[in-house]
Amino acid sequence: MSFDRLLFGTAGVPNCTVKKNNPVEGVQKIHELSLDCMQLEFAHGVRMKDEVSSALRKVSYELNIPLTSHGPYYINLNAREQDKIDSSVERIIQTAKISDLCGAESMTFHAAFYMKDSPYDVFDLVEKSMNVIEERLGRLDIEIELRPELTGKTSQFGSLEELVSLTKNVSSVKPCMDFSHLFARTGKYNTYEEMMEVLNHLEDQLGKDALDNMHIHVSGISSNSKGDLKHLNLESSKFNWQDMLKALKDKNCKGYVICNSPNLEQDALMMKNYYMAI
Ligand SMILES: [Zn+2]
Repeated sequence: MSFDRLLFGTAGVPNCTVKKNNPVEGVQKIHELSLDCMQLEFAHGVRMKDEVSSALRKVSYELNIPLTSHGPYYINLNAREQDKIDSSVERIIQTAKISDLCGAESMTFHAAFYMKDSPYDVFDLVEKSMNVIEERLGRLDIEIELRPELTGKTSQFGSLEELVSLTKNVSSVKPCMDFSHLFARTGKYNTYEEMMEVLNHLEDQLGKDALDNMHIHVSGISSNSKGDLKHLNLESSKFNWQDMLKALKDKNCKGYVICNSPNLEQDALMMKNYYMAI
């Protein structure tokens, strides 16, 4: 997908949608609200009837509201038991299949927990699984961006450096840049200069494409020394979303900005309005 600018949308169906369990109505609501995109949340399982996925593909195309997706939480490519690793791989593949049916071209998920293992060993394991997943999706003729999320807790695989390395090593992998998690995880990256540093780093390491085609998550957030505690609305959080948007605009970044504040569409609209006025 090629983008003209940043697109703003919600993680899941907007709160003000009458039937909150109906993603087709969610897309219509996104359009009504003058937002740009929507993320399908498969947090608690990847199931969707064929008629729903085809209706979603249709409404997304007709209203020009592209979709992204988020895989289930129960994924750990570094689980102790091999069968849990296998089912994590299956969950990612299942998310990819359904996302593809809906017309989504980018999907994110939380790849693994360190489980007190060495991050280097965990990286190797995650990379191995990503190669398996890429190969199997290739055989199914499914082309989708696999985007491990920049995670908010220090117990979770998914630091900025890990995502950059994984992107270099596996061709269908790209980072899902959760700037709120980056702040929660490190206690840094909350000023314009630091945001520019991150974007310049992505460009240096991964090329211009990394900024032309981004999948970003943003919310308000609270944290302690172990990272992310709770998602908040932007106004109740110290996260400097204004400077993040300024940096993204100054670097001419393009792609999806998915808001997962509790108030979803309100913060998404606040960010879109701010961005369009810069
Ligand atoms: Zn997530």
